[in-house]
Amino acid sequence: MTLRTTNLVRYVCGHEGVIRLSENDQPYSACDERYDVINLRGVGVNFTRMADWPEVFEQMSLQCLACGTKLTPENLVKQP
Ligand SMILES: [Zn+2]
Repeated sequence: MTLRTTNLVRYVCGHEGVIRLSENDQPYSACDERYDVINLRGVGVNFTRMADWPEVFEQMSLQCLACGTKLTPENLVKQP
């Protein structure tokens, strides 16, 4: 089974994008996390261990599609 989570990010300019996290939730299987970008500029990355947001943002080189502003975990929209 693959568990998918979407994380909304909002840029200073108001543009929004999504980071989609796909993770294997099989118990006892190797940790496998895949991050993909939707509606923003950056590259998809894979981690075979738990990664934290600063690391993920750095490796994905996330930028606003509209104005090119670099994104940081500060741009994550907190969701209930
Ligand atoms: Zn922008």
